[in-house]
Amino acid sequence: MQAISTALPPDHLPPLPLTTWERATMSAHPTATSENLLRPELRSILDRQRAAFVADINPGWRTRNDRLARLDRLIERHADHFSACISKDYGRRSEVVTALTEIVTTRAATRHARRHLRQWMRPRRVGVGWAFRPGQAKIVTQPVGVVGIVGAWNFPLQLVLSPLVGALAAGNRAMLKPSEITPRFAEALKVAVADFFSEDEVAVVTGGTEAGAIFASLPFDHLIFTGSIAVGRLVAQAAARNLTPVTLEPGGKSPALVDVSANLAVTARRLVFGKLLNAGQICISPDYALVPRTLVPAFLDAVHTSVAKQYPSMIRNPDYTSIVNDRHFERIKRLIVDAETKGARIIQWVPADECPCPEGGTRILPPTVIVNATSEMAVMQEEIFGPVLPVIPYDTREEAIASINKRDRPLALYWFGTDDGARDEILARTISGGVTINDTIMHSAPDTLPFGGIGPSGIGHYHGKYGFRALSKEKPVFMQSRFSTGSMLYPPYGPFARRFLSVLSRFA
Ligand code: NAD
Repeated sequence: MQAISTALPPDHLPPLPLTTWERATMSAHPTATSENLLRPELRSILDRQRAAFVADINPGWRTRNDRLARLDRLIERHADHFSACISKDYGRRSEVVTALTEIVTTRAATRHARRHLRQWMRPRRVGVGWAFRPGQAKIVTQPVGVVGIVGAWNFPLQLVLSPLVGALAAGNRAMLKPSEITPRFAEALKVAVADFFSEDEVAVVTGGTEAGAIFASLPFDHLIFTGSIAVGRLVAQAAARNLTPVTLEPGGKSPALVDVSANLAVTARRLVFGKLLNAGQICISPDYALVPRTLVPAFLDAVHTSVAKQYPSMIRNPDYTSIVNDRHFERIKRLIVDAETKGARIIQWVPADECPCPEGGTRILPPTVIVNATSEMAVMQEEIFGPVLPVIPYDTREEAIASINKRDRPLALYWFGTDDGARDEILARTISGGVTINDTIMHSAPDTLPFGGIGPSGIGHYHGKYGFRALSKEKPVFMQSRFSTGSMLYPPYGPFARRFLSVLSRFA
């Protein structure tokens, strides 16, 4: 028998043009020091988790429920401290936003998993065709082992602990790598997790891109990554070397399509809420708006009214989140300047008594609309991840659909209108990770819906039972009966076997 080499060819992806975001993030090559010190340390945690997993390879409901209950208590006990750390890491982020988008959401996910765990774990009987009867079949779910979870900074708590809910419900152990861009929170999480879990159950690894690169190269049984598309590619390559299955949760440009039938006041109110929540630093933030050409002036007025109502002040308003760091602040400002240079009209809304913006130091970037953005502008070539909304006029629905379909499949799509026929056409003729009709963000919230992208916006799904299933092995089990129909096909193959085969090929 011939030995098959499993070595992968050296990096063989064709070089792609880099966006400013990618240039800023793709620097992850472990140094000699991090290789020598960090790799053995992380490997040793993984080995201990795997040994503990093998010793209790299929934990029952009681153990899983206890781990989820501890996770819930951990979040509850540390909620205020976590929130304060995140606010400091951001510079400014409302505690209400943190409670809403991180604490409440993740605790709800934990409680949802606990409520449904028994049912998710139950083996499922499945039918078989007559040719397999009287044998029977079922699907048994088992944990996969040790799950690696890499999170992004924009929801530093939710993006590591929500995948952890699925991992623990499925009976796995897990190593978490929160983002270095929110370092106070990462350290607080490390301390809290060590309080509530043994290191061989759940461990937190802190560090930057080098730590991330080493982390992603470990032979996990599954790796969940939330972050940029550029780093997602690196993570997928690293995981491929171990044949580790991945769930990738990057972002992209999610369009908001305003139909000619839309109520503009309602549309603007909901679009502004989704765009300015966390100052637009959300993977499913509506990235740009496609608006019927004749409605653009009225739409801009409605957006202005909604901004003024939701954020009557900007610079001193504790509800308005700052941009997370100088690098992203400068990146977004460059997108605006580039669009202006290439002919777009820029509208920035700042209350009259506040200083002209963008305001340095505090990293408060006022809501900005870019009218008549074109695909030549950088703002239409990369995910914005900030409070900037390009508005693109369109003349026909056909043109709007074509402009969505010529881009990468988005993580989210938003449609606003009252014409059900137009809505159904958009649903049928576009493909995206998820859709919210007449609002933004909402499809990501219920634990009963799968969350994930398609194509560059993501691989795989999680949340609720979808997270449980993604991190379980769904093992098919066939139970043969005393009499086996299949035994009629055992050799030697005489005329009866051939007749049986012909019956099978016609009726099975
Ligand atoms: P990022 O890709 O820069 O970093 C994400 C994580 O990856 C960090 O923990 C980082 O330390 C780690 N990392 C860096 N280099 C690595 C490497 N070579 N190997 C492994 N890990 C590495 O992303 P970010 O700036 O933190 O987050 C913003 C991005 O995340 C946006 O694109 C946004 O759309 C996306 N996002 C997606 C979702 C989703 O659910 N789909 C949610 C939030 C954010």
